[in-house]
Amino acid sequence: MIVTNLLADSTIAGLVVTIRDIQERKTLEKQLTHQAFHDPLTNLANRALLSDRVAHAQARSQRDGRPCAVLLLDLDDFKDINDTLGHGAGDQVLIEVARRLHGCIRAGDTAARLGGDEFALLLEDTPDASSAREVTGRITSALSDPILIDAKEVFLSASCGVAIGIPGAPEEELLRNADVALYHAKEKGKGLCEVFEPGMRAAVIQRLELEADLHRAVERSEFLLHYQPIVDLQSHRIVGAEALVRWRHPQRGMLAPGEFIPLAEETGLIVPIGRWVLEEACRTIAAHSRGGSAIHVSVNLSARQLQEADLVEIVAAALRDAGLPPDRLVLEVTESLIMVDPRTMIPRMRALRDLGVRIAIDDFGTGYSSLSYLQNLPVDILKIDRSFIHGPALAPGLSPLARGIVDLGRAMRLVMVAEGIELAEQADALKISGCELGQGFFLARPMEASAFESLLKSTSTLPRS
Ligand code: C2E
Ligand code: MG
Ligand code: MG
Repeated sequence: MIVTNLLADSTIAGLVVTIRDIQERKTLEKQLTHQAFHDPLTNLANRALLSDRVAHAQARSQRDGRPCAVLLLDLDDFKDINDTLGHGAGDQVLIEVARRLHGCIRAGDTAARLGGDEFALLLEDTPDASSAREVTGRITSALSDPILIDAKEVFLSASCGVAIGIPGAPEEELLRNADVALYHAKEKGKGLCEVFEPGMRAAVIQRLELEADLHRAVERSEFLLHYQPIVDLQSHRIVGAEALVRWRHPQRGMLAPGEFIPLAEETGLIVPIGRWVLEEACRTIAAHSRGGSAIHVSVNLSARQLQEADLVEIVAAALRDAGLPPDRLVLEVTESLIMVDPRTMIPRMRALRDLGVRIAIDDFGTGYSSLSYLQNLPVDILKIDRSFIHGPALAPGLSPLARGIVDLGRAMRLVMVAEGIELAEQADALKISGCELGQGFFLARPMEASAFESLLKSTSTLPRS
């Protein structure tokens, strides 16, 4: 309230009283402050508030010598819940997780949501790994009960990383260490908790370097394709080739796919890399056919690529630009990749087949698909995993398991390709069992495009020994 006394002036006979109600403003201010420091979905603390609380806890622990701990938690496969049940269901899951986490902590501790499916807890007075493990144990059991969403039970697991504070150390260090521990937990599998140890940092730095290199590799096109012939086991004629990606790393030399494909999948870089592989393979094989050999090319697809909505257009464009007929392209997918999300994957495989492209199941026998499921999959080719071709019990004939798989594939009228043939006896046994095609070091190793081209020019059949 403001009162202005004007009575001193004889010409004026009155008071001016100004009253302003600031209650509303105060409430608004309070609301805004709350919003600035809380996650609107779960009402937990947000990253800013967590950092502030961690900084205070660190300062306090320096005074009283009682360390605090930070726990970072990441839900496993949360993306699948969002993708299959929708974002509304995803939100409900996050709210329920927040509620359960809140029930696991003591008064004075802080629970925060950092974004997406990432949560954090600041645990006051948690001096060592065993006291942190008590909390992670409580969390694991709290999250193990299914969450009911639209009358469906959703089962959850979470990975977590814990770091125990060193009194007085900056709060960023504690958060970073918890992040490193979380990274290690996720590397090891699902539903695991790891407590930070200094040795963990080197491994993460190495991975971060590789990740930065991988980004650059895409820009600088450091990838190349090797081609491994696929042959008719009766005639040893080359009927196709599998394109296998390699990375020519400027410092580390030639890297095999096993050394960078998992990272490329995690970071999403597999999408541009996979697209390049597809286009390059189509171009190369189309050029070979102009030279007279009408062979097919097999290209491996990763889960991430099959999830991309525009995959069908990308494949169609690659074929068109290269001038390659669709029946000369085979796309290889693994069983487990389809089973991650069959409702998305199967229609996509159908759409690819509608283009005229053939689909192969790669590494067949190592996944977990049931036979009844297999019957309904839109596939043309089965590639028998090499573990069935050369088990120790194999020589001299074919293992009963491999023979069984060949029979199964034939009964389903699928073309069978045996992978990883390393011995003449294996090739013979497979031929006798009725397996049509083969691939392996015994027949030919993967080779550069130019070597493959020369091979095709010089002969269309491979030697039998
Ligand atoms: P895959 O699709 O099962 O490819 C066959 C792998 O077996 C190749 O390894 C090949 O060199 C190897 N191989 C062939 N014959 C023999 C043999 O007789 N004995 C043995 N021991 N191995 C043999 P590579 O090139 O290291 O590729 C490994 C995996 O990486 C591939 O397995 C495939 O899953 C993946 N990959 C390769 N290129 C790509 C790509 O462009 N995109 C994606 N998403 N994945 C790829
Ligand atoms: Mg393959
Ligand atoms: Mg394979």
